[in-house]
Amino acid sequence: DLEKIKNTGNGQDKQLRSDGQEMGGAWPGQAFSLQVQEVLFHEKSQYQDVLVFKSETYGNVLVLDGIIQCTERDEFSYQEMLAHLPLFAHKDPKKVLIIGGGDGGILREVLKHKAVEKVTMCEIDQMVIDVSKKFLPHMSHGFSDPKLDLYVGDGFEFLKNHKNEFDVIITDSSDPVGPAESLFGESYYELLRDALNDTGILSSQGTFSSLQRPWNCRYALGSVPTYTSGLIGYILCSKLKDHDLSVPARILDSAALKEMKLRYYNSEIHRAAFVLPQFVKEAFE
Ligand code: SAM
Repeated sequence: DLEKIKNTGNGQDKQLRSDGQEMGGAWPGQAFSLQVQEVLFHEKSQYQDVLVFKSETYGNVLVLDGIIQCTERDEFSYQEMLAHLPLFAHKDPKKVLIIGGGDGGILREVLKHKAVEKVTMCEIDQMVIDVSKKFLPHMSHGFSDPKLDLYVGDGFEFLKNHKNEFDVIITDSSDPVGPAESLFGESYYELLRDALNDTGILSSQGTFSSLQRPWNCRYALGSVPTYTSGLIGYILCSKLKDHDLSVPARILDSAALKEMKLRYYNSEIHRAAFVLPQFVKEAFE
């Protein structure tokens, strides 16, 4: 018998059926499923249900509270876009903060930037870090980098003690249920704004719904096959009013692309990601 993990994207109102299939949530009437070869780890942490399984065709997969976070096969597209859109929009990113990101994928991408002198990361769940080190080594090797300052705790609380400090802040959180709920409201974005320095840029996944001005905000799109609908939105905001975030401040040539081992991001996709389909434009208008 094939065991299936079904992912409905956002876990709100989700129902876990007795056969292990998750239905409902933000994508009613549809589900994404991956064939499981072997369950490698399954425990409840203090904050969430943590599952790692080996899939038939997507490599190892990290699932939190029944929602797929990343697969070894397609994680590069999400990690590269969420990290490199803000980092390449910035002229000289030296101090970077990651909120969440326990699988290490965003950290790996941030560390590819030679300008970056220090990466601070605040992840709430030590168990996610531990299982990622064990089962997702290609994503998590940055945890041993000397440029990293790692804090295990709530990102919302962490931000309260950091003002005017970072060039780039990347929120790589799970969906807005459970521990990540506080990372989606307006007050969280106020804390982010205050933690950025005057030319700072932030990025996070999601929609504009909780964002208020006076931010200079833009929305970009990318594809990630294993997120329900296959499409993911990236929010980018700058404290500089006139900064066009869709224009990379540094252009990558083919040698640099190779050196950074980039598979999704390049300077053309940076600009193109901000060109939105009509229905998305209208939704934001
Ligand atoms: N790429 C993934 C996605 O969106 O599907 C997200 C990856 S990463 C695993 C998300 C991380 O955010 C998790 O490890 C989770 O523990 C962490 N997280 C959730 N709430 C948090 C909070 N309040 N503070 C810090 N980290 C948090």
